[in-house]
Amino acid sequence: MIIAVDGPSGSGKSSTARGVATRLGLRYLDTGATYRAVTWSAVERGLDLDDTAAVAQRARDLVLEISTEPGNQFVIADGTDITAAIREPRISEVVSKIATNLEVRHELARRQREIIDAAQPGGGIVVEGRDIATVVAPDAELKVHLTADQDARMSRRGAELETGSVTAEQLRDQIVRRDADDSTVSQFMVASDGAVTVDSTHLSLEEVIDVISRLAKEAEAVPRGRNDG
Ligand code: C5P
Repeated sequence: MIIAVDGPSGSGKSSTARGVATRLGLRYLDTGATYRAVTWSAVERGLDLDDTAAVAQRARDLVLEISTEPGNQFVIADGTDITAAIREPRISEVVSKIATNLEVRHELARRQREIIDAAQPGGGIVVEGRDIATVVAPDAELKVHLTADQDARMSRRGAELETGSVTAEQLRDQIVRRDADDSTVSQFMVASDGAVTVDSTHLSLEEVIDVISRLAKEAEAVPRGRNDG
C-alpha cells in the first residue's frame, strides 16, 4: 500500500511519516530530501540557481541514493554522504528555488515514483512531501493532509533555535517564506481530493501516528477501487 502524507513545513510530516512506517513495518520516502540533494549538488558546483536549464541537467545527472529504511535514513549524492549537510540553513534557504524549477520537479517525481514502485512488493511505503497525493502517487490508498497552525509549526522548529543551529530569522524564513514560495508550484495548504485532514496542532506525535495508523488499517480493509469515488 502507498500512504501519502502532504503538508506545510513544521506540521510534523517527517517524524509522523517515519513513525507510521516503523509502526506498520513499511518503507519510508522523504521526497523533500531529493529536492535538498539537488540543491546541495547545485550549490556545491557553484551553479547559478536561476539558470533553470543547468540546474535541471544537474538533477538528471545526479547519482542519488536515498534510504527508505525508516530507522536508518541516509542520502548519498555522487558518492558523498550528505545526510546532515542537506539540513543546513544554507540549503533550506534556497531549496524552493530548485523546487519551483518545473523540469527538476518532473525528474524528481519520476525518480520518486521508481522508488515507490520498487517498495511495493515489500508491503508498501509511506511517502512524505508536498505533491504526493496530487502528482507523485495519486493512486495512494491513503492520502493524509497534515496541518498545524502557524504558531505550532514555528514552536516545533523552535527546538532547533534552542540548540543554536538556526536564528529566529532563519526559522521564520524556513517556515513562512518557504511555504509561500513552495505554494506557487504545489497546493499543499489545502487538502487535495480524497485526502483526510489531520490537524496536529493539539496532538502529540504519538497521537498523530495512532490516528494515521488507524486510517491506514481502515484503508487496507477496503478493496482497491472501492474508495475511488
Ligand atoms: O520537506 P522538506 O522541508 O525537507 O522539503 C524541502 C523542500 O523541498 C520544500 O521546501 C519544497 O521546496 C521541496 N519539496 C517539494 N515537493 C515535495 C517535497 C519537498 O517541492 N514533494
